[in-house]
Amino acid sequence: MLQGKTALITGASRGIGKGIAEIFAKNGCNIAFTYASSVEKAKAFEQEISSQYGVKIKGYQSDAANFNQSLALADEIIADFGKVDILINNAGITRDTLMLRMTEEQWDDVINTNLKSAFNLTKAFLKHFLGNKAGSIINMTSVVGVMGNAGQANYSASKAGMIGFTKSIAKELGSRNIRCNAVAPGFIETEMTHALDENVRKGWTDTIPLKRGGTPDDVANLCLFLASDLSTYITGQTISVCGGMLM
Ligand code: NAP
Repeated sequence: MLQGKTALITGASRGIGKGIAEIFAKNGCNIAFTYASSVEKAKAFEQEISSQYGVKIKGYQSDAANFNQSLALADEIIADFGKVDILINNAGITRDTLMLRMTEEQWDDVINTNLKSAFNLTKAFLKHFLGNKAGSIINMTSVVGVMGNAGQANYSASKAGMIGFTKSIAKELGSRNIRCNAVAPGFIETEMTHALDENVRKGWTDTIPLKRGGTPDDVANLCLFLASDLSTYITGQTISVCGGMLM
């Protein structure tokens, strides 16, 4: 479904981003991906994907929250791959705590990594997409960006911001054939959610109509659709992949 295309996926050394990279590679897509610190994991992943699927794949250590690093990254990737068709702003972190205890640093870290990063990378690739007269941007938000969540004021605000950003970019760039959609996962089994207390995890899964946490593949399949030509008339949308948690 993505033969001959190239995608940049931020934060793909593990979790959802890694799942997206695997499914995209399986569908013929060349993969550029970033990570914050997982150098060994990223190298092993490059090897695994190129030997299994024969696509071009390269990992870049780059802080998505840093504007200048994002500009330099875009130049490097375009030089390495020739072009980029799909941008997935997936890198994200949590710094959960109640508002009473939340520090300015915890607020800033989450907003910069989860939300400013989408500005950084979209800005960095914009002229490239305009020149190509095409592009699919997928922003990883969350159901808590719609619902809110106690203990996640910083995270929920960053994810709600991502939805407003997505709609604005879709309106601004639709006439140039650049699409922008948001994917809102619910409770997905990754290191991010494994860090939660077992009772909290059970509390979440009990409320999900499909009675299980999702997998990175569940999210990746939706991204595959949004990146592919099956969705050429879909833009500005926020689509949940949450087992029915959000209706
Ligand atoms: P994860 O397992 O913690 O993986 C996070 C990934 O982001 C890693 O590859 C990490 O790299 C990278 N990363 C972190 N900070 C970065 C930075 N500043 N620059 C570049 N890369 C950075 O998280 P996940 O569960 O897969 O979540 C992926 C996305 O989905 C996030 O945006 C998250 O908010 C969203 N989401 C997740 C869930 C869920 O239930 N898991 C639900 C809704 C939304 P290193 O390995 O180097 O640290």
